[in-house]
Amino acid sequence: MKWTIDKSFDFCYGHRVHNQRLDTNFTENNDGCLACRHLHGHQGKIKVFLESSILKSGMVTDFKHLGWFKQFIDDTLDHKFIMDLSDPLCPHELPDLCVNDTGSVIQEVNKSLLMPAKDVLTNTIFWTPDMSKLNLNNQAVYEKYEGLVLVDFVPTSENICSWLLGIANNRMKELDVVVTALEFWETPKSHCRVDWTHEV
Ligand code: ZN
Repeated sequence: MKWTIDKSFDFCYGHRVHNQRLDTNFTENNDGCLACRHLHGHQGKIKVFLESSILKSGMVTDFKHLGWFKQFIDDTLDHKFIMDLSDPLCPHELPDLCVNDTGSVIQEVNKSLLMPAKDVLTNTIFWTPDMSKLNLNNQAVYEKYEGLVLVDFVPTSENICSWLLGIANNRMKELDVVVTALEFWETPKSHCRVDWTHEV
């Protein structure tokens, strides 16, 4: 026998898919608008699946063992803007992060102005602006940087899905529990699922 349990989480986020391309031969109503490249937001939903062929105290694991994941989603992603470090908009939208150590403007984000967040295996999973290094006098501009999560991938549903599955698995390994899949809804009608294919 094998048991699967799942738990769902919600969060609001913003993003843009800066590399969106459509096949112009295939798309009938091609108006030339690549809407996913716009700065926009979603009400996202995550479902995490945990599986086991043995039960401990009658459980795959206690649902409370996913409390850290809810905290992570609430604290880290909810109402944040997820931006790819390689997004060509960075030098324009985030100019305070695109300066070198002597204050000259550069075309990419200066990682020394960021704080890396690491998982339990000490992989860097994302970056946030180091607010103590930014000289921001304007409250609205401060809040823009405060609400940023920088990642090293284009934040499509598929990439967010596999990113979250890796984060969940690295942590749940401590309990010998495997997160076998993660589902992600960008909208109620747009769904992605990724399955863990590493050896269990
Ligand atoms: Zn979107």
